[in-house]
Amino acid sequence: MNTDTIQRILIVSKAVEKIENLVDRLRVKYTVLFAVDEKTTLELSDLEQPGLILIDLQLPEMKDYSICKQLKMKEQTQHIPVMIFSERNEVDIQVKSLVSGAVDYLVLPFNDNVVLAKIDNQLARYCVIKNFENEIKDKQCINKIILENEARLLKIVDILQHPSETIQEFLDYALKQAIELTNSKIGYIYHYNEEYQEFILNTWSEEVMQACKIEKMQTTYKLDKTGIWGEAVRQRRPIVLNDFKAKNPLKKGCPEGHVQLTKFLTVPIFKNEEIVSVVGLANKETDYDETDILKITLLMEAVWTVTESKKAEEALRASEEKLQTIIETSPDGIAISTMDGMVEFVTAKTVSMWGYDSADELIGRNIMEFVHESYHEKAIYFITEMINGHLTGAAEYLMVRKDGSQFFCETNANILRDKDKNAIGVLHIERDITERKELENELKDLAIKDQLTGLYNRRKIDEVLMKEKQQAGLSKQNLAIIMADIDMFKLVNDQHGHLVGDTVLIAVTKILSQGVRKTDIVGRWGGEEFMIVCPDTDLVGATVLAEKLREMVAARDFEVIGKKTCSFGVAQLRKEETIDELLLRSDLALYRAKERGRNRVETEIRKDRPIKRMNSLQKKTRG
Ligand code: GH3
Ligand code: MG
Ligand code: MG
Repeated sequence: MNTDTIQRILIVSKAVEKIENLVDRLRVKYTVLFAVDEKTTLELSDLEQPGLILIDLQLPEMKDYSICKQLKMKEQTQHIPVMIFSERNEVDIQVKSLVSGAVDYLVLPFNDNVVLAKIDNQLARYCVIKNFENEIKDKQCINKIILENEARLLKIVDILQHPSETIQEFLDYALKQAIELTNSKIGYIYHYNEEYQEFILNTWSEEVMQACKIEKMQTTYKLDKTGIWGEAVRQRRPIVLNDFKAKNPLKKGCPEGHVQLTKFLTVPIFKNEEIVSVVGLANKETDYDETDILKITLLMEAVWTVTESKKAEEALRASEEKLQTIIETSPDGIAISTMDGMVEFVTAKTVSMWGYDSADELIGRNIMEFVHESYHEKAIYFITEMINGHLTGAAEYLMVRKDGSQFFCETNANILRDKDKNAIGVLHIERDITERKELENELKDLAIKDQLTGLYNRRKIDEVLMKEKQQAGLSKQNLAIIMADIDMFKLVNDQHGHLVGDTVLIAVTKILSQGVRKTDIVGRWGGEEFMIVCPDTDLVGATVLAEKLREMVAARDFEVIGKKTCSFGVAQLRKEETIDELLLRSDLALYRAKERGRNRVETEIRKDRPIKRMNSLQKKTRG
């Protein structure tokens, strides 16, 4: 409520003395202003907004009630109540006065009490009306703000819901909306990098592009190279230029061909006290004001938040694509299972490695179904270790393909965890190592087997002997060995050549291998000498076996050379005896077999035979 207005009364008369008493009494309560002609009355009424105007009908300007009519015609004064006073009391004059717009007609001389009461009433009524009007105005103002807010909110919602594929498209749309919201004609959005003090062009409104004939549009600008439009960053606040043509030391001028600017507004957008973006809008018909700044700030803050999340989305999508490429081009198969082993994801490589046609055949099944039964225990052990947080590294498993064939797979498994570190699955990276396994086996064989005959070599037999001796000791079982030597083998080489000699060696190997029991181990001890280790066998048993082998060899008709025989020396491990001593005794037995005419089986039981003599004998007779 504007109380000042109500407290003023304007009296228009050239003979105020007529109402002197009343004026005195009015002055106690109100500010009384005076005017003597029409011009002053109209000006004062407009300027001072009195709560009541008292006009003397005797004024020359009151001919045809001119002053009163003019007051009622003007928007600024038509609401002010007017009272006309005069000595005349004819009814038609009174009516004409009221018709001209006056609220009352007062006849002189006044009863001051009555007139004062009437004036008080008028002013009180005026005050109520004024308040009411102000209230309505306030309400209208609030409504306007609400409507504007709603419009802005709708714009924000509209922008946020705008289906845009890329950030660029989204920002283009946001700029369009910002222009509409402020009734601008053109605009731009720049990203701003505080660290490099650099603007990176994001989007220009289409109109600028059309209107601008700038040949080379720069996409980045250093802050220190910018004119007025960089000022929003330098001053860290919105900048408004409603008279763009006026001289301004900050303006560096537009580039050649730039659209003509009349009004210009630029607003910096902050994120955590850092300027992240700058919006520029121009050429609104009316002046840019605080409301425009508020609208743009709120709008762009929302836009920026969405941009950030869109950027994150795009980055995520890009990294997902990258990951997908890595996964699909990996030479290893990749599978993901739940913690209880249910397959959730497999790459094409895994599908083919496991011998299937499509991922659907694998998904939903338990990963153990693809692991050979004999490896289940190992798999469970490794996964348990992993869950307990122990590093397990790669492990080899025998896998079973769809067609039942088997292959070796090296699996590197890792627990997948959510952000709270809860185990949510197992990532398996798998490599088919069948080839490597074969190569490894070949190398292993090479180290322990004789190449010509495929039998264990001497080193491996040494190992077997050690192991079997230990076993025999533990289980209190017997252990016997048979040493076999082809008789007069040198002759074969001499008469038929080395190659024939080799085939004879292979043939003898076969006979020995077929002749022994499953538990016996045959090895090539040296040139044409063989060693047969017989676990859980005593001297008699071994001798019987040796005899059988001797007969088998002797019975065979060898290709090219015909008949060939072997001599055998048998010995049983004694208590407290070393392997070397056992070997020596079997050697002595063999020696005796040779000595006694070959194609024989001899056993070595005598313990007291001097080893020295044996060595010299060996050298002499068997080279
Ligand atoms: P004895 O009845 O006394 O055992 O007579 P021997 O000729 O068999 O004995 P000796 O030790 O004099 O000769 C063994 C020969 O075996 C000598 C060597 O040329 C031959 N020999 C050893 N290893 C191979 C081989 O891998 N291939 C062939 N072809 N001959 C071999
Ligand atoms: Mg020989
Ligand atoms: Mg020999």
